[in-house]
Amino acid sequence: MAYQLQKIKGELRKTFTKEFKSWRELLSPLADHLNMKDIKVMLWKKRPTTSGTAGFCLKGIWRIWIKTKTGQHRRKWVHNLIVLSSPYVEKQPIEETLRVFRHELCHLIAKDKHGPHFKSLAASCKAARFSKPIPKE
Ligand SMILES: [Zn+2]
Repeated sequence: MAYQLQKIKGELRKTFTKEFKSWRELLSPLADHLNMKDIKVMLWKKRPTTSGTAGFCLKGIWRIWIKTKTGQHRRKWVHNLIVLSSPYVEKQPIEETLRVFRHELCHLIAKDKHGPHFKSLAASCKAARFSKPIPKE
């Protein structure tokens, strides 16, 4: 599958790193096996069409196709990647984006998709249950 993904840079990148670290501490020792200093997070150009599509995660090791700005496709190995919709990140307040980010982080350690284990993890770190729709212009 090919996604047109974009790297996150600067202050926003630092915000996600900080958020990841505090989330991991909050859910320690459950999240400790995510023995990672940081989490990969990229932006996806697609606008969410329904709630729940503001982000997704790829758990484990994946080889994905990334479409670059010049239109070329590059294959890349990724490990535990979180992808967020860039229109969502742009339009929603940062607090809302971080709640979606925590929701996706919970998927990396939950034993079920949106079942009881996931729900208890999400509740204990105040993750979003659903993503909010993007306000219309
Ligand atoms: Zn989910």
